[in-house]
Amino acid sequence: MRRRDFLAWGAAAGTAGVLGLWALLEEDPKPEPRPKRRLNQSFFDYARQNPEARQEFLSALFEAYKKRLPHCSGIVYDPGLAKMDSVIKRYKHDYGFESSEDAENLDRIIASVPNPIPIVGKHLENNIFVNYAFFDAGVVFKDGTRISAIGSIDEAVSLLVDHEGTHVEDAYEGVHLDNVHITHETISGPPYPRKFMIALKETRAYYNQLKRIRSYKSISDEFLESTVRSGAQAVADLSQYTNYPEFPIAERAAWIQLAKYSDVTLSPDGELTHVRFTFLK
Ligand SMILES: [Zn+2]
Repeated sequence: MRRRDFLAWGAAAGTAGVLGLWALLEEDPKPEPRPKRRLNQSFFDYARQNPEARQEFLSALFEAYKKRLPHCSGIVYDPGLAKMDSVIKRYKHDYGFESSEDAENLDRIIASVPNPIPIVGKHLENNIFVNYAFFDAGVVFKDGTRISAIGSIDEAVSLLVDHEGTHVEDAYEGVHLDNVHITHETISGPPYPRKFMIALKETRAYYNQLKRIRSYKSISDEFLESTVRSGAQAVADLSQYTNYPEFPIAERAAWIQLAKYSDVTLSPDGELTHVRFTFLK
């Protein structure tokens, strides 16, 4: 669920070598177009037990929901996210940008969309990449933290279509808030306001996810609570940018986006004083 805009470049390039890197740049992951099995809970349970069936499950989900994902080219099973990494490397190559950001902990990313700022609003279709943790329910890490289980088709749709689908659409169109447009043209860098963009994109994705979440039947309390908690965190993160003189356009976007929540209250200096998703009642 966490967004990963820029990956560490040096480590991967160093280990892959120049020839290996070019092989990665050539690669264009495409999911299988026609799944054979029907999308239902037993297929999901089977895919959780049998990794070789996971791509077919994700392709079936994409086929069933692609009308709600107009600019998504597919949902790709990508354990370890190496395929997504290769797409970001290709973008860096094609659009000539670099980043010195450290890689995030890939294990904890359940699903992701490659959308670094220099491609936002370029009308590029993207895949949604799904990590092993999406299927390996309740993964527990060495430090004791745990990814909550994705247990039902409804939760899979909430996460992949409502949340990741928002990232795909925002990457394709850019983020348009009244007369403020956040695209590769209006946000120049380096340095890029990377953490602001993550907060903006996550706020929008969790908002779309939470708006629809009551329309599904099979959403566990654990899934709902963790989505609400993450959504509130995204709102709190975005409120940090309501005073951001280094990037005035980002500051305006933060104010407008936050004002679109009827149930988010900011003090005049931008401090977050209240967030509650009233549409969940
Ligand atoms: Zn996200």
